[in-house]
Amino acid sequence: MQDSSQSAIRLILSARPEITTWEPFSRVTLLGDAIHVMPPKGVMGANTALRDAADLARRISLAGGVDGIDQAAIGDYEASLGGFARTAIEQSWQGGIKSFGLKLVEQCELIAL
Ligand SMILES: Cc1cc2nc3c(=O)[nH]c(=O)nc-3n(C[C@H](O)[C@H](O)[C@H](O)COP(=O)(O)OP(=O)(O)OC[C@H]3O[C@@H](n4cnc5c(N)ncnc54)[C@H](O)[C@@H]3O)c2cc1C
Repeated sequence: MQDSSQSAIRLILSARPEITTWEPFSRVTLLGDAIHVMPPKGVMGANTALRDAADLARRISLAGGVDGIDQAAIGDYEASLGGFARTAIEQSWQGGIKSFGLKLVEQCELIAL
């Protein structure tokens, strides 16, 4: 019901559902929007960021602390993002298509950051 003349368009950025893989580092990783920003639909973004943080904290705890974390442990964590975050991005994207006419992933402009 909003008066469209009172509206402004904001750029929406999203990661692609298939998250790129890379050689893991033992001391640097990503979580939340830094790795899987998604369309603002489906109330998935913050939940997914919190899930990543909890999972990473659990893995550090199981390793006996940060000194027990190595490249393989970070690699396992990052590999797990591929499955969980992919589902969240796909659901969020579908919500955006239904709610505000978001284009299909394949039709969106690809931006290299
Ligand atoms: C319009 C909109 C509506 C949304 N609605 C929902 C919703 O209803 N439910 C939901 O679950 N999610 C929603 N989201 C998504 C949610 O807001 C994000 O997924 C979530 O905030 C990601 O958390 P984060 O900690 O990864 O990143 P952020 O919340 O972006 O936190 C990153 C922080 O890092 C800081 N920072 C950046 N660069 C630097 C630097 N160089 N040095 C120090 N600090 C830095 C930033 O200032 C920021 O505070 C919405 C998003 C948008 C845009």
